[in-house]
Amino acid sequence: MECAEPDCTERASVRLHIPWTENKVVCAAHARGLAQADGIVPEPLEDTETETGYSSGFAIMISSTYSSSIR
Ligand SMILES: [Zn+2]
Repeated sequence: MECAEPDCTERASVRLHIPWTENKVVCAAHARGLAQADGIVPEPLEDTETETGYSSGFAIMISSTYSSSIR
């Protein structure tokens, strides 16, 4: 999941709970700036897209591609 800010392609790592609009998921850098506003509550995203989860999913994808190509 990418940062919701325009022109930002960082991986989103924080969900911002914004009372006056929809929640937004942004990268750590944008979260630091946006969370300065009163009422915005930053919540770190965990479990959903951790580095470890991404890596193992990616490794499985690579290995299945590889094993099907050598048959
Ligand atoms: Zn960002």
